[in-house]
Amino acid sequence: MPSGQTIKDRKSSLTNAFVNSILPRPVKPTFEEVEEALAILGMDFTTVVCAYCGNAKTEWDHLRPIVVNQRPTGYTSEIANLVPACNKCNQGKGNWQWKKWMLNPKADSSPSKRGIKDLADRIRRLEAYERWRTPVKIEFDKIIDPNVWANYWGLWEEINADLSKCSEVAETLRATVIGSLSSK
Ligand SMILES: [Zn+2]
Repeated sequence: MPSGQTIKDRKSSLTNAFVNSILPRPVKPTFEEVEEALAILGMDFTTVVCAYCGNAKTEWDHLRPIVVNQRPTGYTSEIANLVPACNKCNQGKGNWQWKKWMLNPKADSSPSKRGIKDLADRIRRLEAYERWRTPVKIEFDKIIDPNVWANYWGLWEEINADLSKCSEVAETLRATVIGSLSSK
């Protein structure tokens, strides 16, 4: 089924866009870097799977989230902060700290909830991955003037408020559409 994404659902992608837009553009890792990254996770190009659960890999996930509480953490999309993942894990993990999410049997789609067998082994490899390189962590509050920073997030709030307004109008239109279908 199509997800039926609504205006409201766009709010987190708006936040991600506001964060991504102030980060340096992601640099494509070299073949050797990806090879090294996969080796730490016990994989190579032919055996790559989701680092969290072992399912087929569909994407690369930020090991350390780049957004938490609707603000940037300072982490970026460099190879040392990206691991192969499946969509289920990427969505479920969201903004959680990766290990807390993996071990929490109540967290959405977490490997412990799903009874993934080699959980301890996966965690050990991800810990090694964390130690691989010191990640870039941008300290926005030290490099950006507080007023400029506040203004930027003020713009974000304005768009959010507009999205809420649009959403309300859309809801009334949807009710009309549904009403017209049931009266036939
Ligand atoms: Zn997975």
